[in-house]
Amino acid sequence: MTQTRNRLVLAVLAVFGFCEAALAQDKYPSRPITIVVPFAAGGPLDVSTRVMSVALTSTLGQPIVIENASGAGGSIGAGRVARSTPDGYTLLMYHIGTATTPALYRGKLSYDPIKDLTPVALVNDGPMAFVAKPNAPPTNLKEFLAYARSQGSKFNLGHAGIGAASHLCSVLFQKEIGTQVTTIPYRGTGPAMAALLSGEIDAICDVASNATGQIRAGALKAYAVTGTKRLPAIPDTPTVAEAGVPTLAMTNWNAMFAPKNTPAPIVERLVAALGVALKDPTVVQRFAELGTMPIDAAPTAAQVLKDHLAAETARWTPIIEQSGQFAE
Ligand code: ASP
Repeated sequence: MTQTRNRLVLAVLAVFGFCEAALAQDKYPSRPITIVVPFAAGGPLDVSTRVMSVALTSTLGQPIVIENASGAGGSIGAGRVARSTPDGYTLLMYHIGTATTPALYRGKLSYDPIKDLTPVALVNDGPMAFVAKPNAPPTNLKEFLAYARSQGSKFNLGHAGIGAASHLCSVLFQKEIGTQVTTIPYRGTGPAMAALLSGEIDAICDVASNATGQIRAGALKAYAVTGTKRLPAIPDTPTVAEAGVPTLAMTNWNAMFAPKNTPAPIVERLVAALGVALKDPTVVQRFAELGTMPIDAAPTAAQVLKDHLAAETARWTPIIEQSGQFAE
């Protein structure tokens, strides 16, 4: 009898807990949301996230707090989000590194990007740009490659840590010139850019949006962008194909993720809010100035991101394995 009563009480409590969870999802969001950016403040992922978050705040009706948790090409911050409570209040903005870090860190990642994150939506996409100081000797991309090859380990190429987009571009670059240069990791290309401007390093293959302002101001020289089209923000810079080296093509995408087991209604709410935020005229204009493209968050956005992540993982894994440049 007591056992039956206990079971009944448990069943009632379970239903009550279920209703409470459903109610919380219904009211989502009812308090501030934290978005973890796993690179340094002031860099390209941070800036894109901040631009998008202003519009997202008004669409969701709650403040958004951005937390920079940098290190290991983004995998430290991403791992933290993967282990957070799946209630929609801790989210992640990450990029191509979500697809490449498993191959680069070979079993040393603290989380599995495919199993431990819930895809929400792609947010924006843009090319990389090869940039150096205006007084650098090469005048075009082919000369730049020849110069780096001739300098070998004396040539210092900055990047944002193993797994960063700038690191992947440095892998493609070294494959192209057939020589290893010295690659120097920073906690983001925000700090790498400061190092380039102060003459500490020779060049970066940076996420273009981090460099367009400096290029337009004449503080940097750009040899090429890695997309298939020129960027309207820096129309004089050729694409890698126009500059004669199409094998250096790549783009970097940014996307929103949540911890695994995040309830579908929360993901749907975020997708709908992103769909509005990414069409906001201020976001569209600012992204165009930076040289990155907002991606339309259609209702199928979570599935689109899931498929994209699988395709990018399949594309980059063999390139990384052939390069032999793994994280220590
Ligand atoms: N996303 C990095 C940053 O925001 C740059 C990179 O991946 O290369 O600094």
